Amino acid sequence: MNAPISTEVIAKLRALRQIHKVSAQKLADAVTDLGFPVSRAMLANWEGGRKGTIPVDFLVLAAKALGTTAEAILNEPVFCPTCRGDAPAGFTCNTCGGAS
Ligand SMILES: [Zn+2]
Repeated sequence: MNAPISTEVIAKLRALRQIHKVSAQKLADAVTDLGFPVSRAMLANWEGGRKGTIPVDFLVLAAKALGTTAEAILNEPVFCPTCRGDAPAGFTCNTCGGAS
């Protein structure tokens, strides 16, 4: 299933998670604590593109857990402090996992 908005949101959440050095388990636990039960495996499936869409509840609570808002994730680019979203050609950023 082609779900371009979910795909973009998942990529941004993953980058934020890596920038803030939050493990998948820690984010899953934080979102669960905020009221939407998520397992590390579910998160891995979303990040791995094996499930095409994410629930809006997850977006809102994951954003909160990562110190931002769903609005910012939907509307603003994620700026990685290491590569500023622009890894050198042929390289993958170690902080956000982004590639050029
Ligand atoms: Zn980066």
